[in-house]
Amino acid sequence: MNIAWQQLFDEIARWRDAGRTAEFWWRDDDAARPDPALSRLSALAQRTSTPAALAVIPMQSDKEIFENIGSFVSILQHGTDHANRAGPDEKKTEFAASEPPLEALARLAAGRQRLEAQAGKRFVPVLAPPWNRLPTHLAAHLAAAGFRGLSQYGARSRAEASPGMRQVNTHVDIIAWRSGGGFIGADDALAAAARHLAAKRMAAADPQEATGWLSHHAVHDEAAWAFLEHLFETTRNQSAVVWRRPEELFHVS
Ligand SMILES: [Zn+2]
Repeated sequence: MNIAWQQLFDEIARWRDAGRTAEFWWRDDDAARPDPALSRLSALAQRTSTPAALAVIPMQSDKEIFENIGSFVSILQHGTDHANRAGPDEKKTEFAASEPPLEALARLAAGRQRLEAQAGKRFVPVLAPPWNRLPTHLAAHLAAAGFRGLSQYGARSRAEASPGMRQVNTHVDIIAWRSGGGFIGADDALAAAARHLAAKRMAAADPQEATGWLSHHAVHDEAAWAFLEHLFETTRNQSAVVWRRPEELFHVS
């Protein structure tokens, strides 16, 4: 076995030896319209019995994507329109610091209602903001806008972003953004996963936060698809691994 895979399975073995279960979850971003890559994602989830949390851009979403998506896919909200509103000194963000909070919250609530109407009971009221960025002052108001959870990137600093708003992030981005897309490579992806698992095991990161794998179906190359398939196939029968549905992670039934 390749050394990077071996390191992941060695880390999983440490969890098993400690009588613990490593929790994983899968989030995929930037869904809006039906396309072959999205069909491939839902087929992969179905074939490997892996729950997928698909973050959909509400103001671009086409109702058709929810019709044949299969039983393993749940829907999260990916911002509202995915427009970059960053000011000159900000990194890319849909939610610029200068935007009046009431405007942002009104957009978010409209997006939530639209997705809820389109996706029905598959919709989990969790916000995964584009570029994983959201000003902290907005998080405090998400519950009032109808959200139950928030998902960004990196080990969370607290289990609730604000009262009643569970936070469960992703920790392993499999895309090589600096090269414009495609797979980042098994070494980098698996090292990031092993790092988060080890940090949780040693309580340097919140041990209760599931380790999130982040994909973007629209920019996958064959290597990215092959990696995900191998990951799901090789972990699904491990007694010390469980793949969680977002409904479980965010306590929404
Ligand atoms: Zn996005």
